Amino acid sequence: MSPLTAVVDALRRARTITVLTGAGVSAASGIPTFRGADGLWKKVRAETLATPEAFEHDPKLVWEWYDWRRQMIRDAEPNAAHHVLARWTRERPGTTLITQNVDGLHERAGAEQLIRLHGSIWHVRCWKACATGCTDWLDNRAPLPQLPPRCPHCGGLVRPGVVWFGESLDRGVIARALDATRCDVFLTVGTSAIVYPAAGLVHQAKRHGAFTVEINLEETSASSGVDVALRGKAEEILQEIDRAAGTGH
Ligand code: NAD
Ligand code: ZN
Repeated sequence: MSPLTAVVDALRRARTITVLTGAGVSAASGIPTFRGADGLWKKVRAETLATPEAFEHDPKLVWEWYDWRRQMIRDAEPNAAHHVLARWTRERPGTTLITQNVDGLHERAGAEQLIRLHGSIWHVRCWKACATGCTDWLDNRAPLPQLPPRCPHCGGLVRPGVVWFGESLDRGVIARALDATRCDVFLTVGTSAIVYPAAGLVHQAKRHGAFTVEINLEETSASSGVDVALRGKAEEILQEIDRAAGTGH
């Protein structure tokens, strides 16, 4: 049996499927990953901008980067990978989608049962967590009229509603993601499997007895631990699986 056939077979028999996605799923929509060469902005590495320390030091610079990314994402469209996964969540009960992406493209493709591990680039909240500004609110203006934006409640700085490097994930969100690792098939798609706790989910699924699959252009630290590693583009492989599993229309 070819590796792809093994995946299709497992998906056909599965009652519950969990898919974890990373930046690679949005690459075909023209949104750079963090670790690819095109992920650089003004020759600055993303890892040095997406931190609380960077924001503390230079909130305007960090917001210029987010404002640039928001404009790029605004102009992008979901690709075949988003569409296939969104359809699975709608048409296959027992499918859960977990994403590390903050771009909102899964939602725009119509995904349901979505767990956003790292927040949303379209949400903001008060940096000083003032009483009324401490929960995220939607601000999808791109470009923003003023950088850095100000909190309408206390006049202080506003920060992006994303999880930065070095910050903890929301406990309720982690609990839901861990719950979803109790599944028959777990797919990890387009993620470098470096950022924890997201990178640990596939191992957790394996411990629970799931059939585990990785789809990525390259080998990652997750590759050797999964049942099947498929090399290639997520947008192509997912379509191929979808057609072969007979879930396509
Ligand atoms: P990453 O940049 O670390 O890794 C991307 C992975 O995708 C790489 O392993 C690469 O080989 C693979 N890849 C690239 N193109 C692909 C394709 N067409 N098909 C399949 N695989 C492909 O991204 P990450 O693992 O998601 O972690 C980085 C963090 O950065 C995340 O926490 C996320 O929140 C954030 N991020 C989000 C976005 C977004 O929302 N679109 C973009 C960049 C980074
Ligand atoms: Zn405030």
